[in-house]
Amino acid sequence: MSSLLKKIQELAEQQAHANIAARRHLHSHPELSFHEFETQVYVEKQLHELGIPTQRVANTGVIAMIEGKNPHKKVVALRADMDALPIQETNDVPYKSQNPGVMHACGHDVHTSSLLGTARILQSVKEEFEGTIKLLFQPAEEKAPGGASIMIQEGALQNPSPTGILGQHVATNIPVGKVGFREGMYMASADELYLTVKGKGGHGAMPDQCIDPILIASHIIIAMQQIISRNKNPRLPSVLSFGKFIAEGATNVIPNEVKIEGTFRAMDEEWRADGLAKMKKLAEGIAESMGGSCDFFVLKGYPFLKNNPELTLRMKEAAIVYMGEDNVIDLDIWMAAEDFAFYTHHVDACFYRLGTRNDDKGIVNGVHTPNFNIDEKALHVGPGLMAWLAIQELSLA
Ligand SMILES: [Zn+2]
Ligand SMILES: [Zn+2]
Repeated sequence: MSSLLKKIQELAEQQAHANIAARRHLHSHPELSFHEFETQVYVEKQLHELGIPTQRVANTGVIAMIEGKNPHKKVVALRADMDALPIQETNDVPYKSQNPGVMHACGHDVHTSSLLGTARILQSVKEEFEGTIKLLFQPAEEKAPGGASIMIQEGALQNPSPTGILGQHVATNIPVGKVGFREGMYMASADELYLTVKGKGGHGAMPDQCIDPILIASHIIIAMQQIISRNKNPRLPSVLSFGKFIAEGATNVIPNEVKIEGTFRAMDEEWRADGLAKMKKLAEGIAESMGGSCDFFVLKGYPFLKNNPELTLRMKEAAIVYMGEDNVIDLDIWMAAEDFAFYTHHVDACFYRLGTRNDDKGIVNGVHTPNFNIDEKALHVGPGLMAWLAIQELSLA
């Protein structure tokens, strides 16, 4: 196996320039969620040039298979997301976004080009492993209901079914050259809450003739935090935040209604359902007890992301072999959401982070910002590492 390790590392180094060129192409041609039409064609073309057949899925997604020897032995899936964000890029780079108001500000150009690089490596060593690698290029990570959920609905995890799935995401807080893993719960579910609190407006000098929705909404917001502090199991991370409170009255006008919007995040599906039910009951009950009413609407987001502990530990150990112990770090729980989570509820999964930060070069800006960028040295790491991890997993009985 050590000669294969060396071979993959050499291939990764030789092909890094091609991965960077692919990343720059995708970066300058970003497309919004569910509109990855040119990206889809680009991915297909790259795979066809490698002699890998493709299949379309989820409208703008691509599935491809790389069969090693004894292809029915085992299947491992590798996933990359392909969509960009509605952000105007402010980086002054030659490969700057050419699509006004659209930018690869979450690194999905890196994920896609990295998986193409992984495919290139796997295709060159396919005589040296047993089993099948299934490549999933998915649309719309950034937009509900999430491309991953549609990929699954359309059978991406069947015919053949993988025993494990790997996904990677850029990390702006991890130095380039390092990667991070976390076993078990890693990222949160995220549901959007939309509340309309209705009362009866009127003159601010005569509150007795009104039903004040501002006071009702204030009570609701305070009481709902008690669900997090009093009803939730303290061992489970969970967050409730409200970022919008619209009451269009005036100094002397009590409005008819108030709109509140917030996010509820959790790392346990049972608690997620229970917490939402308790919030709805409490909000409606408080409004009613004060003479008003509350419409409580939940836009369901992604589930929480759970990394299979055994698979993740195996991948972490394989990463240490590939990169050295100093370059593999442990991740903290993160309350952001990611649609890779859908896969993790169907199949053993490992979602890990690829470091892209470089303080010396000033590459420090976070994802979803107009000046986000990566140190492209990450594309010397990501493709070969993923190929190595996938082959390690296939090599297990
Ligand atoms: Zn994002
Ligand atoms: Zn992302």
